[in-house]
Amino acid sequence: MTHDDAQRAAGLLHLHRETLSKGDPVPPQITLAAMYHLPGDPACVRTYGRADNPNWEVLEQALAHLESADTVVFPSGMSAIAAPLFSLLGSGDRLLIPSDGYYTTRLLADRFLKRLGVTVETRPTVRMEDGGFDGYRLVFLETPSNPGLDLCDLADITAAVRATGGLTVVDNTTMTPFGQRPLDLGADIVVAADTKAPNGHSDVLMGHVASRDGEIIAAVREWRKLSGSIPGPFECWLAHRGLETLELRFDRMCSSAATLAPRLAEHPAIRAIRYPGLDSDPSHGLAQRQMTRPGFLIGLTLLSAEAAEAFINACPLLQPATSFGGVHSSAERRIRWGDAVDPGFVRLSVGCEPVEELWKALKTSLDACV
Ligand SMILES: *Cc1c(COP(=O)(O)O)cnc(C)c1O
Repeated sequence: MTHDDAQRAAGLLHLHRETLSKGDPVPPQITLAAMYHLPGDPACVRTYGRADNPNWEVLEQALAHLESADTVVFPSGMSAIAAPLFSLLGSGDRLLIPSDGYYTTRLLADRFLKRLGVTVETRPTVRMEDGGFDGYRLVFLETPSNPGLDLCDLADITAAVRATGGLTVVDNTTMTPFGQRPLDLGADIVVAADTKAPNGHSDVLMGHVASRDGEIIAAVREWRKLSGSIPGPFECWLAHRGLETLELRFDRMCSSAATLAPRLAEHPAIRAIRYPGLDSDPSHGLAQRQMTRPGFLIGLTLLSAEAAEAFINACPLLQPATSFGGVHSSAERRIRWGDAVDPGFVRLSVGCEPVEELWKALKTSLDACV
């Protein structure tokens, strides 16, 4: 962990210390309010439940601390992704998105942005730079891509897009602010599904948008208020509680993944592996330059769909589930959602189990698939 990450991680746990009076509860309290007491001039802090809520503020302050940027929270990763797309794009604009990223983002652009007159174009993550960026209003990036774990060069691309007058949005869900800092690498906007590792307990959906550009943040905030795409106070409270242990969990998950990846690579049931932390991975060099940790996701290709299903379902320490980043390791065959991957491709999300126990369980289950 870098010194800055360590400072941010430590500071996160004491953000509100200065605001407390003697006898105040240390944890944030849940505020359930559609109405606020509002006589006379309404130009005050909180007006109405669709515009303001103290639990949004607590979560936003925590995320802003980690992102070193203004942050707006949303009730899911997708609503966070939709906010910059719908508030910044208009008829005649061109949008470039990855062809191999999170499929719902592509579907959203295809089904709704096209209808509004936005031209939607795609490129694979590894070839994102091919063809340049002239004429694009917005370039959307996802690195490592979910599920294929391909990378693209954030510093190069954000500089090239900026030079042509466009904006970059980076979906940082697979890495979290502790694994990769796209805004530091030149991105205009970060979006993320806090549903995944930041909450970490698979019990809440949440998302956020972060940016160091005041106009972008104002547009995204207005979009939230007018569209009513607002998170619930209790969900924010839960996500905030999860976030307080993100650094601890992320550290365990990444170091376990780094321990498991070379062992998995050698196992005869594994035909191919993708993990940016492996020397042999095609993205290893770039991963070392732009990521602070190689992450907790491992892409495994087993010999067949049947072998992959048997591996997942027989392993007592794997949740067969979509989504990732929880304390419990989980896995799924991504082709079941239509991703362009091998039928035997499994996205493994390494959780917080003690690593040797996890290895024993994975190995036993893989041994039966050879
Ligand atoms: C899960 C995910 C999302 C969507 O998040 P939800 O909270 O499910 O809406 C977006 N991007 C990536 C990369 C994801 O993995």
